[in-house]
Amino acid sequence: MQNTYVYQVDNNLYINLTNRCSNRCEFCVRYYDKPIYGDLWIHDEPTAEEVINILKEKYNLKDYHEIVFCGFGEPTYRFDAIEKICEYVHSQGVKTRINTNGQANEILGEDITARISKCIDTINVSLNATDKEKYDKICHSQYGMRAFDIMLDFAKKCVEHGGNVVLSVVDCIGKEEIEKAKKIAENIGAKLRVRELL
Ligand code: SF4
Repeated sequence: MQNTYVYQVDNNLYINLTNRCSNRCEFCVRYYDKPIYGDLWIHDEPTAEEVINILKEKYNLKDYHEIVFCGFGEPTYRFDAIEKICEYVHSQGVKTRINTNGQANEILGEDITARISKCIDTINVSLNATDKEKYDKICHSQYGMRAFDIMLDFAKKCVEHGGNVVLSVVDCIGKEEIEKAKKIAENIGAKLRVRELL
């Protein structure tokens, strides 16, 4: 069975490193019958070297706007590989982004916010909700009611380390919630992105 480790969406290249995730979000594309980006379930996780070789052999990175770590799982489970891949991507003069659930410090058992702020140019953290109860209802994290604070603390620390942090919510949460989300982002010095629910 073929593994899709690198795929293109518009002018970006996406890197798919793992299916593992600490959340079980209600809206996650993982649970669609026919995933919109094709079959991104991988059967073996790639090493950083495998991904770098694919990038070297098949793509001219300078043709792409960003290299994005995002797939059918939470990419920070593979943070060591991410750092190595970023080193190669940056050596080609191309920017990096990650779409993360912000639970990396708990997942990895160490604070990676200084390191991730250094190797990732845009850290996109899914805020999803404006308090811990609502977050738990939507995201069903393995960390339960602690998950919202874990995520927000991660985002805040990344900002403190100079990271370009964007919190994101989906538009269907309603105007009032979006306003609350804006305040949360402002309070920690992050930006807010309201994205369309696919
Ligand atoms: S955090 Fe992302 S990958 Fe994980 S369940 Fe939620 S939407 Fe899916």
